[in-house]
Amino acid sequence: MQNLLDLDADGLTAWFAAQGEKPFRARQVLRWMHRAGVADFDAMTDIAKSLRDKLKARSVVQPPAVVSDRLSDDGTRKFLIDVGNGNAVETVFIPEDDRSTLCVSTQAGCALDCAFCSTGKQGFNRNLSVAEIIGQLWQANQALGAVHGDERVISNVVLMGMGEPLANFDNAVAALKLMLDDNAYGLSRRRVTVSTSGLVPVMDRLRDECPVALAVSLHAPNDVLRDELVPINQKYPLAELMAACRRYLEKAPRDFVTFEYVMLDGINDSDAHARELLALVKKVPCKFNLIPFNPFPGSPFRRSKAERVRRFADILMQAGIVTTTRKTRGDDIDAACGQLAGEVADRTRARERLQHRRATIALHPVATHTVETRP
Ligand code: SAH
Ligand code: SF4
Repeated sequence: MQNLLDLDADGLTAWFAAQGEKPFRARQVLRWMHRAGVADFDAMTDIAKSLRDKLKARSVVQPPAVVSDRLSDDGTRKFLIDVGNGNAVETVFIPEDDRSTLCVSTQAGCALDCAFCSTGKQGFNRNLSVAEIIGQLWQANQALGAVHGDERVISNVVLMGMGEPLANFDNAVAALKLMLDDNAYGLSRRRVTVSTSGLVPVMDRLRDECPVALAVSLHAPNDVLRDELVPINQKYPLAELMAACRRYLEKAPRDFVTFEYVMLDGINDSDAHARELLALVKKVPCKFNLIPFNPFPGSPFRRSKAERVRRFADILMQAGIVTTTRKTRGDDIDAACGQLAGEVADRTRARERLQHRRATIALHPVATHTVETRP
């Protein structure tokens, strides 16, 4: 049985062709599934009964199941999405005055093991399928009552939930293409953002195959510190990352890259770090988004004080870089950045890794700072 939610427009057309059906039929079904949110073939009223029966015999429209749906006091809503074998991932809906953003996961767990990230601490379980990625948007639209109409309840999508989107490139790109497709979700490239920890060669592929807005998780102004905080830096150091950002901008729908920077007390948040950043990003048109660290059980870091974040932002802004500080949203339901834990089965291994990481940090204090480990 083919799950039709696993196919983007080209994939669906090819699958219909293999069943002896015309491309316009694929387009009709695409619109029913994604624009109208319909999973039942019998509700696709302009499709002939014979084709509906054929589709029923050979395919399904199966989004992943929502196992919980929680609403924060600030309007943030967190969906826990079942991805089988006792695993679940999280999707977060963030309403704001001028837009509403859905933060989507791309992997169950993550292999990249950034020091401050709850998802990374769980270890990697598996890549999500296209149906599981686009299914988060499908389910959120259903829950928000956004189907059967053209109103865009979700105006922006960010691949910034659990996992590294560029480590699940093919599936992430198929899902992105559906988000952009006028017969599916019809979002503009500027309103869809991929966040990456910096997989340099794959950033080039994204630029060539499906350029959307880009956010890069920077978190440190030099290689010594970034090697510790974002281990993938050991493979793709900052000079290469900056060059990749410049190449990306040649084809990007926006003329800047957003650098995300998690503010860790005493680790990466000094005036000197801010000035070092200015030198680093000199040739990359960019904005900064400072993210106050969101603690999670067992994490050895503390959030920078508000005054420190303000001062850090001031230094960047005085140099002419637009800098915003992310408001912490949904932390009463553990939906804030980096707290997304889902329910990945691989808990034992995650605990071992966390203990190992704590020991490593205690043995090798990052740069000139001491990292406090909390038992
Ligand atoms: N893997 C991708 C996207 C998912 S993480 C990436 O790393 O960019 C989304 C953002 O949340 C990243 O910028 C990440 O560094 C940040 N983040 C991770 N853990 C965090 C935490 N505990 N507090 C605040 N932000 C965190
Ligand atoms: Fe993975 Fe991103 Fe978390 Fe790093 S910050 S471990 S890349 S999800």
